[in-house]
Amino acid sequence: MSEEVKTTAAAAAPRPQRPQGDRPQGDRPQRPQGDRPQGDRPRRPQGDRPQGDRAGAGGRFQRRRKFCKFCADTTISIDHKDPDMLRSFITERYKILPSRVTGTCAKHQRFLTTAIKRARILALLAFTPLHHD
Ligand SMILES: [Zn+2]
Repeated sequence: MSEEVKTTAAAAAPRPQRPQGDRPQGDRPQRPQGDRPQGDRPRRPQGDRPQGDRAGAGGRFQRRRKFCKFCADTTISIDHKDPDMLRSFITERYKILPSRVTGTCAKHQRFLTTAIKRARILALLAFTPLHHD
């Protein structure tokens, strides 16, 4: 007896089917198209986002323009005897940072790489963070 009641309850449980296509439309006030305020909002056409103007794209963070530090300031010389300067071009694992990260140009990246390797051999820079004095 109770078994039958349970099954009928389960059968009635599924969500009520909403009739598709014959929703009541008569009692809802029809809003006429075209009377919404549109003048104050700048219209942006879809699929026509401005190319080349990367600063205004989406409001994401602005990437700073990368530049070669040594080209910008010619007074800085790449010297293997200056480990403090070289330290800004290595990672915390003492790996040499790629030029695509630092923005260093190819010529100066070449000098920088040589200088860092020389500084390592002279023990001015560590090869790995595992070294301790
Ligand atoms: Zn350069």
